[in-house]
Amino acid sequence: MDPKLLDILVCPLCKSPLVYQKAAQELICKADRLAYKIADDIPVMLVDEARKLSAEEIEKIR
Ligand SMILES: [Zn+2]
Repeated sequence: MDPKLLDILVCPLCKSPLVYQKAAQELICKADRLAYKIADDIPVMLVDEARKLSAEEIEKIR
């Protein structure tokens, strides 16, 4: 994914910066514990489509 795009992307819910998980192809909002998927290099910034993360998963992300 384009790093410049990552710089301008924020969580649509809380407007926090997101953490890019390259292997999983997801953008993580730690505050909301949500993972926004990236489909064909295009981040799907929809709260309804986001995956909820467990506390355990969140702990592994930095
Ligand atoms: Zn958020």
